[in-house]
Amino acid sequence: MVHIGAVRKNEPAGITITNLSKDYETSRGIVQAMAPLSFSVKAGEFICVVGASGCGKSTLLRLVAGFEKPTTGSISVDETEVNGPSPERGVVFQDYGLFPWLTVWENIAWGPRQAHLNRELINERCDKYIKAVGLERFAKRYPNELSGGMQQRVSIARVLANEPSVMLMDEPFGALDALTRSGMQTELFHLHKEIETTVLFITHSIEEAVVLADRVVVMTGGAAKGVPGHIRDVVPIDLPEDRDVTGEHFNELERRITELVNMQDE
Ligand code: ADP
Ligand code: MG
Repeated sequence: MVHIGAVRKNEPAGITITNLSKDYETSRGIVQAMAPLSFSVKAGEFICVVGASGCGKSTLLRLVAGFEKPTTGSISVDETEVNGPSPERGVVFQDYGLFPWLTVWENIAWGPRQAHLNRELINERCDKYIKAVGLERFAKRYPNELSGGMQQRVSIARVLANEPSVMLMDEPFGALDALTRSGMQTELFHLHKEIETTVLFITHSIEEAVVLADRVVVMTGGAAKGVPGHIRDVVPIDLPEDRDVTGEHFNELERRITELVNMQDE
């Protein structure tokens, strides 16, 4: 990924989650997906959320995205309460979510066009973020002509083109092969240093979380276990920028988080 120089954008925002819970009504009764939880993310922080399948990670992300309404509690991004989706909170999904009938360039331009930016600014944004993800040469291609890793880069650029103050990512690299995935992690890590934005990143890979995060939020429980999903602990990742997955402290953190993920709820 190339350096993109002096990128200016919206300021990153802090996220404040207060007593947030979610119940789903189903034909078999109420499913308590997530117990009331409180948590704050600092502006510009990179937070990874890990936990076993079904512990409520995606539920948490959908609530922060504003796709769903909480059962109790609230979320605010800086001072503003979340009431629905907003381009201020960009969302990247595992399955890319690109428009197959639009080229790479048009996919990236879509958000700025929706925001009625003038043509000059749209072009500027597209140039900047297509470069940021290293896809200038593929501007005229369609998503189905690209590899999975490249499609995920487009979907990241597409979100960044809105210059969001928060980026929400739900297992974005989950469908990629191991080598591509590790390359994408490095790119995202550096992109985050360059482009100041707050990131809430969901993964079930503990290694991925330790590679990327400033802090790792460990969730446990889950409706299927009879205990609503909740935060077990928050682990600060005190590693240097140049992270070595074979390093001693790296492995220590991985071990500690694995223990927390597997800990039984009493
Ligand atoms: P994760 O992303 O950690 O795997 P989810 O947030 O997807 O977990 O799901 C948490 C729990 O809530 C699971 O038990 C899941 O079955 C349940 N759940 C999620 N979405 C719905 C829904 N729309 N209706 C009913 N139950 C749901
Ligand atoms: Mg999920």
